[in-house]
Amino acid sequence: MLRYLRRLSGRDYALDRGMIPLGSCTMKLNATAEMEPISLPGFADMHPFTPAADSEGYRRLVADIEGWLAEITGYDRVSIQPNAGSQGELAGLLAIRGYHHSRGETGREICLIPASAHGTNAASAVMAGMRVVVVRSREDGTIDVDDVRAKCEQHSDEIAAIMVTYPSTHGAYEDTITEVCELVHGVGGQVYIDGANLNALVGHARPGEFGGDVSHLNLHKTFCIPHGGGGPGVGPVAVREHLVPFLPSHPDHPEVDKQRGVGPISAAPYGSAGILPISWAYVRLMGAEGLKRATSVAVLAANYVAVRLGEHYPVLYRGQNDLVAHECILDLRQLSKESGVTVDDVAKRLVDYGFHAPTMSFPVAGTLMVEPTESEDLAELDRFCDAMIAIRAEISRVAAGEWSADESPLRGAPHTARALVGEWERAYSRELAVFPAGIDPDKYWPAVARIDQAYGDRNLVCACPPPEAFA
Ligand SMILES: *Cc1c(COP(=O)(O)O)cnc(C)c1O
Repeated sequence: MLRYLRRLSGRDYALDRGMIPLGSCTMKLNATAEMEPISLPGFADMHPFTPAADSEGYRRLVADIEGWLAEITGYDRVSIQPNAGSQGELAGLLAIRGYHHSRGETGREICLIPASAHGTNAASAVMAGMRVVVVRSREDGTIDVDDVRAKCEQHSDEIAAIMVTYPSTHGAYEDTITEVCELVHGVGGQVYIDGANLNALVGHARPGEFGGDVSHLNLHKTFCIPHGGGGPGVGPVAVREHLVPFLPSHPDHPEVDKQRGVGPISAAPYGSAGILPISWAYVRLMGAEGLKRATSVAVLAANYVAVRLGEHYPVLYRGQNDLVAHECILDLRQLSKESGVTVDDVAKRLVDYGFHAPTMSFPVAGTLMVEPTESEDLAELDRFCDAMIAIRAEISRVAAGEWSADESPLRGAPHTARALVGEWERAYSRELAVFPAGIDPDKYWPAVARIDQAYGDRNLVCACPPPEAFA
């Protein structure tokens, strides 16, 4: 078993190996000290419906975290019941809906959502029984405030909420955020601030103070719970006082006052409680000063990448003073047009250079989004920038006609160890294929070469023996 697990981890590219520059995902390296407690029997072996008298420790853990998160976000109350950011969104929108209905305003059904929003926002709004009206973005990627004003005037009695992400998924702080909040409040709507990008705010600004009525956070982003592969998450929902009565409840909640209400948003009263010790330890180990510094370093790292790579790839959106927030979008669309090299090629070529791919074609098709987080030191940031710059030079060689896009190492990427032996008929050397940044004894070797993108998702390919083989 140990050898099997070791083999799987050898094939995996995780943060213990190097940078995972996924934009919008906040992939941080989690301290082993933060991870250790979740395997202690006292935490690991507790049943979700353990009687209150036998789960005092967990309740203390939950109360600590909910209290700290309220302080960090500037809201009055937090519920850690939702199991994901998207579930936190649904819980928050149901709270807004419950609030409007309690005041007899049942006609408020419209949720304004900027074009730059994460896909889950619109999905959650529809699940909460709302109608989505999209707010335009301006040329620079920020919310079009005039469009917000127009939509507020047009639908004033019907507006339930606006869902706005701050800083936005375009990687910029929108300096009109307070104005947007005021416009929506002005017509009786509520403001949902998507707090998944809190890594760009913690210790510096509080969404509950600049206009939000409700937010969700992602403990599996900002607060260090490892994620990827759909593993368990925690998406706490944080609200101001008037929405407290509409937070998730649970008929079997250990706290009597939380048994009745709008009902559960996830199966267990405390959601994914088993992974809360990670975030608890993170906050305690960092302290207020450490959390604030982490935010500064994360934003600094993103700006460092934007400045170094900005000379080689256009950075699509920048905010005030040409700065970005916690992530930046590299625009490859013109380069792709000129050379035929696609974002997919660049993402896969990065694997040869020893990196996980960045976020591709989200939120803008044909771009790459990079979020370094505070986890990466200068050496790793430079290794990443150097790789991207070397790839840019490879694209130039394609554009200059030295290789066709199809024959280039970009299209051939990623290259496995198998490429080192046997026939080799490609237009570039084996060395350039597998050691583009120089010979490295610790190189990450991908286990499989390129597979055809979405083909495998849409066509079932069975690798097991046919039933006849067992006859
Ligand atoms: C990640 C993210 C979400 C959704 O969180 P999940 O836990 O994946 O459901 C929502 N909004 C934004 C801006 C995000 O980055």
